[in-house]
Amino acid sequence: MRTAREMEKLNCLLCRRESLTPFCTQTSNIPWHLYSPDSARHTQVNFFQCQQCKLIIKDPAVRCNTEQERRHYEKHNNDLSDPGYREHLLRLVNPMVELIKKDAVGLDYGCGPIISIGALFQEQGIRCDSYDPIFFATENLLKQSSYDFITCCEVVEHFKAPEQEFENLAGMLRPSGKLIISTHTPPDFFEDWWYQRDPTHIVFYSDLTFGWIAHKWGFDLAKLDRNLFLLTKQ
Ligand SMILES: [Zn+2]
Repeated sequence: MRTAREMEKLNCLLCRRESLTPFCTQTSNIPWHLYSPDSARHTQVNFFQCQQCKLIIKDPAVRCNTEQERRHYEKHNNDLSDPGYREHLLRLVNPMVELIKKDAVGLDYGCGPIISIGALFQEQGIRCDSYDPIFFATENLLKQSSYDFITCCEVVEHFKAPEQEFENLAGMLRPSGKLIISTHTPPDFFEDWWYQRDPTHIVFYSDLTFGWIAHKWGFDLAKLDRNLFLLTKQ
């Protein structure tokens, strides 16, 4: 386990500043069997916060391996015939459909094991390709720079390299292109928060962090709803 002092010397995974400070330490109810054998040698999970961009980071010494991640994502309910799941995705799809033209082309980034958001756009006659680093790793889709929109539904909290990820996302959008992101923002009682206990959730963004991201990559930011952010490229 890295000590707080060692962690402070690491750069923030988003803004790269050396401004991480201890945020909280979890010592109980940690699902060690879902973490890699290396990680499971630890006895606690430390979280750090960047004083610059306010990102909260789970200690990178505690991580899943890719196979554990795959199994974890396959357990999620990804059935479009389930009204609850459909509603969960339409929170992103519906506001985007209002904002784009019928001939817009988009990308669902981090779609998971089943193409779902892409299918919901298709129902509306709109093309939305789907990419996922584990399940649909069509790298060519990431070489575009002219997407009209990108959706990230419960994806950014899994980013191991958020700076690079946001750099890539910004680069794939045309001017005025739209990026819609759903992710849960930290509550006051972080230690008891179910969301941070998910072994695949490793970085946590507050409203202030999204403000920092918008400023850094030249987006206009709008918070559409609880845990739902729209970034429009300037
Ligand atoms: Zn930072």
